[in-house]
Amino acid sequence: MSFSCKNYDYGTDNCRKLKAECIPGRRGCVLEGRVNLSEELEKRLKELDQKKG
Ligand code: SF4
Repeated sequence: MSFSCKNYDYGTDNCRKLKAECIPGRRGCVLEGRVNLSEELEKRLKELDQKKG
């Protein structure tokens, strides 16, 4: 990861705040709306949204 976040758990690669995979910019993430998302990240976020329906 090219950023540091106090919620990020380096041991599990998960977000301690959301208790889920860390995807910077995802909903509920402290960096939401504050990070420049790479294309790869945007894709993952879209996939996440679609899974939830
Ligand atoms: S999802 Fe956001 S709040 Fe959670 S660890 Fe990653 S960057 Fe931090």
